[in-house]
Amino acid sequence: MRREGTLEEISDGRLYQRTDMVRANCMDCQNCSDCCKGMGNTIQLDPLDVSRLCKDTENTMQGLLQTGAIQLTVVDGLILPSMGMQGEKSACYFLNEKGRCSIHKSRPGICRLFPLGRYYENGVFSYFLQANECSMKNRSKIKVEKWLDTPNIVKYETFVTNWHYLLKDIEQWLQENGMENQKQMATTVLQFFYENPYQGSDFYMEFEERRKKFRHAFSMEK
Ligand code: SF4
Ligand code: SF4
Repeated sequence: MRREGTLEEISDGRLYQRTDMVRANCMDCQNCSDCCKGMGNTIQLDPLDVSRLCKDTENTMQGLLQTGAIQLTVVDGLILPSMGMQGEKSACYFLNEKGRCSIHKSRPGICRLFPLGRYYENGVFSYFLQANECSMKNRSKIKVEKWLDTPNIVKYETFVTNWHYLLKDIEQWLQENGMENQKQMATTVLQFFYENPYQGSDFYMEFEERRKKFRHAFSMEK
């Protein structure tokens, strides 16, 4: 989810890198599951999230869509997946009856990140601590990379950056090439980066190959 506002308004005013300590550790959430409910379509999924979810649940993207585990939403002219919400409390599909995440090991990047956010500037990003978003007020300090609980963190950050700026460039491409191309572009992105399964053991390498091919095909080479 993109947020508007100054860094001072939405955070503690600081930017963090992966080796910094940050007051994000809500200590196993202690029976709270507030950020797994009522989130609408804001827990957006990148290609790694969907690939990981498909592998972990032994399902396809179409299968996840059919069960309501994930949903599709129009975002800036594209059709992108997000976590599915269900029931009276509009809870995440994967929140179990004990109020715990049933796919903890393969939870999406945004869930790993929260209550941190990403602040993009000049082709890179830093982390920031979202003010007043997490219900746990007495959080302790933890190193950012430990909090993210993500293997190959350097490759992961490169992927996150490349995906973000590719989406920005597609947005720009749509503005320049007219909205009549929007549907075709939205379908292509969905099929090319999400629906077509990542077969190999190195997701990041496969994603890079697709990203370069895509940029070449649409003359967005960088
Ligand atoms: S709001 Fe904070 S404490 Fe509650 S589940 Fe989310 S991260 Fe954990
Ligand atoms: S995937 Fe897990 S951590 Fe993320 S919103 Fe759903 S239940 Fe919560």
